[in-house]
Amino acid sequence: MSNSKVTDAIMPYLRDPRLVRELAYINGKWVHGNRDMAVFNPATGDVIGHCTQLQPQQVNEAIAAAANAFPPWRSLLADERAAILMRWHDLILEHKEDLAILMVLEQGKSLADARGEVDYGASFVRWFAEEGRRAYGDTIPSHIPNAQLATIREPIGVAALITPWNFPHAMITRKAAAALAIGCTVLIKPASETPFSALALAELAERAGFPPGVINVLTGKGADICTLLCQSNKVRALSFTGSTRVGKLLLEQAASTVKKCSMELGGNAPFIVLPDMNIAEAARAAVAAKFQTAGQDCLAANRILVPRSGYEAFLDAFAGEMACIRVGNGFEQGVTMGPLISHRAVAKAQEIVDDAVAKGARLIAGDQQAAPGANFFMPTLLADVTPQMKVFREENFCPVAGVLAYDHFDELLPLANDTEYGLTAYVYGHDIRYIWQLLRGLEFGMVSVNSVKMTGHGIPFGGIKQSGLGREGSRHGFDEYSQIKYYCLGNLPGGR
Ligand code: NAP
Repeated sequence: MSNSKVTDAIMPYLRDPRLVRELAYINGKWVHGNRDMAVFNPATGDVIGHCTQLQPQQVNEAIAAAANAFPPWRSLLADERAAILMRWHDLILEHKEDLAILMVLEQGKSLADARGEVDYGASFVRWFAEEGRRAYGDTIPSHIPNAQLATIREPIGVAALITPWNFPHAMITRKAAAALAIGCTVLIKPASETPFSALALAELAERAGFPPGVINVLTGKGADICTLLCQSNKVRALSFTGSTRVGKLLLEQAASTVKKCSMELGGNAPFIVLPDMNIAEAARAAVAAKFQTAGQDCLAANRILVPRSGYEAFLDAFAGEMACIRVGNGFEQGVTMGPLISHRAVAKAQEIVDDAVAKGARLIAGDQQAAPGANFFMPTLLADVTPQMKVFREENFCPVAGVLAYDHFDELLPLANDTEYGLTAYVYGHDIRYIWQLLRGLEFGMVSVNSVKMTGHGIPFGGIKQSGLGREGSRHGFDEYSQIKYYCLGNLPGGR
């Protein structure tokens, strides 16, 4: 095991160094595994610290701790759980700057984006703390004489929450807040690239007063830990955010114990520009929808469909907007786009560009010689994209935008829906007759018209087709962590 505890790369930046934890958090204790895993700063390639790799027996101990903590946690009043959640919320915001700095160090996004993610993440904690008080059931007009029929909503039990590296803070709180508010206990498995955001959340949870075992953070290899979580009969809900490939594996594994599964998987969003849309405005919005988090975003606008009449003007405007993106280390003043998560991601981005160019796409902009480091990929614009190209077919998860021209409105739905993904779609235009047809026909869980900003605590976030199952945020977020119990009180006195 390495002796090097968190390196100088982190400590000097933080006001509260105790937020940096390199051990896993199980049953209210900080626990060593059997070896360390290095965590890198993607902007510099430097090791910023290590997290511990848990052994199978420790994962099983965590599952047992969460199961033991469940009965007393669910027995608290909703108000009591809400009070602890609100203390967690307040501590998250109090330590916003440190949490954002940790995120920049391990994920690479700009400091402004990281601050935004902490706000976004905290908003779910507040929302579900409040909403937990309103987890109502129904009363049902009885078809049985002298009976009272009703439903109650019960917490499902222990929930395993498996999260990705692109939003290392908010993907945890969006799940955990819903699960905890309704009365579940949680086992959080963060991505190995970004464990520090998760562990800092656990440190703040401890300070907020969550009882031991209610929140646990397990670090180590996803394949090993998740298999144990999926196979355990004590884990009753599985909530995963990540790639469709891994989501399918987990669904197979979870089938053996018939868990309630919710899946937030990949996306391949179309961005439709209608002919009556102002071209400059559409290009500005498309750039914003494409390059957030360096394109490593399940909501990224990957396939941009533009009317032929405005096509070349759109490409010019898009390239002009794109040139304003400043690429660099997320800590540098004015930087709006950081590195990709790894060198492998850079190679994948180049492969996508090469494939498109070989199949006839025009490379309009994207000079990789200008990249400021090994893990950086400059914003890239491809025109004349076709459905045969990887940039159209795959969730490219990199800062490469693909644009296609269309001639008739009737081409739009077949093109936009030509993907196994169904997370989000964007529409820019004014004519409500066309907008309505698109709203009805787009096979996506979320459709945003004339707005890039669409997410938030109150909306049901989620996809259809191979983009996932279930919803996060909003009152529907509770569905993934609760079950409906129906009861019939029969043979009551007092007649009908
Ligand atoms: P990923 O490779 O699927 O990993 C996600 C999580 O699964 C990590 O915790 C990882 O742990 C674990 N894991 C990886 N391989 C595993 C395996 N064989 N068995 C069990 N668990 C395994 O996804 P990612 O690269 O981190 O994230 C990018 C993906 O997330 C994209 O597809 C993106 O669209 C999707 N995403 C979706 C949403 C949404 O709301 N729909 C939001 C954000 C991201 P290790 O790191 O330890 O391997």
